[in-house]
Amino acid sequence: MKRFLLVIVACCTALSVAEAKQKMPENSDDRVYCYELNPERRRIVAIPNIDGYITLKGDFHMHTSYDDATVSPQGRVREAWAEGLDVIAMTPHIGVHKNKGIRLKDYNIPYELAAKEAKKWGVTVIKGVEITRAKPFGHMNALFLSDCNGFSEKRYVRDADGKLLTNKDGVKINDEQTLAADLARAEEQNAFILWNHPGWPDKKCTMYPVHKKMLEEGRIHAVELFNAHEWYPKVLDWFDKYELPMMANTDAHSPTGMDYGKLVRPMTIVFAKENTVEGVREALFAKRFLAFFAQKLAGDGDLIKQLITKSLQVRVLDAKKGLLEVTNISDIEFTTMYGDHMNPVIFSPREARRVTVPKGTVLNFTNCFAGRNTVKMEIW
Ligand SMILES: [Zn+2]
Ligand SMILES: [Zn+2]
Repeated sequence: MKRFLLVIVACCTALSVAEAKQKMPENSDDRVYCYELNPERRRIVAIPNIDGYITLKGDFHMHTSYDDATVSPQGRVREAWAEGLDVIAMTPHIGVHKNKGIRLKDYNIPYELAAKEAKKWGVTVIKGVEITRAKPFGHMNALFLSDCNGFSEKRYVRDADGKLLTNKDGVKINDEQTLAADLARAEEQNAFILWNHPGWPDKKCTMYPVHKKMLEEGRIHAVELFNAHEWYPKVLDWFDKYELPMMANTDAHSPTGMDYGKLVRPMTIVFAKENTVEGVREALFAKRFLAFFAQKLAGDGDLIKQLITKSLQVRVLDAKKGLLEVTNISDIEFTTMYGDHMNPVIFSPREARRVTVPKGTVLNFTNCFAGRNTVKMEIW
């Protein structure tokens, strides 16, 4: 009996070895390509189109190894594609060169490298620069430039010995002449002017007279509500008061995978007629965009309502009782309060849930900001 068992075990072992050998790829001599780890993967960020427009996921503020970041322009394009974006802007700081051996003489180069790479991946790249000054002016992106050169590297006031002068708070003093020339240079190219991170670096989100004047003259087209890892609630008040549209951008300096990991990266959602530079330009100047970050959506209330309507598909199970099956087809989480619920009712990304919402009930979407007010609407 023992011998019989041994024979069976031996046979099984021989069979499994043969099986294992057969499972190896035929061309596995020395080098086996791991398709399981194929790096060319794109995350699909589900945000539906609205009527008449396609929804583009964009990031209009980022840096590369050509100014003070650690990723090449081509790397930025690949990150964008892999992380589900459709459009990005190259916005090198003017006059900032942090990486030894790289000193941009031609500020169009990051765009040119990115645009060439982007053709392979179907990403749209916008040509821009970041006009970089101390506060009160701060930083502003000039987007849709035809030429990134001609902006001034002489940014601050110096004494006769070339030493940088500072004010009583230790802040560098802007050279007003070069600043005015830089803005004129951007405006002669019909640039879209984005006021970046108004609450950085001093944690004070202040609208200085220079901004007020520019706003009154229609020379600032948008402001960042969100930048990198922070947001500025005061910007919601400016939206209410000045109808100043809001963006969420990464201002990426590190690899974005390090910054946001598996989370959906912050983005500006654009409703465009087509995914081209011209299409994006038209949409931005027409103010058809929203800021989306950390499951917060902010901007024009009507656009948000359209996006909610397309994202939440409602099936009425019992009209009398108000029993619904609501399927959220998007990657946006919608948090609502309504009726006598003490706790929020959350419609999670790509999930259906059954809820009782009597006809005519107004839901308060507490993570959707049309300025300071949250969006309130019926869903059926
Ligand atoms: Zn900046
Ligand atoms: Zn920046």
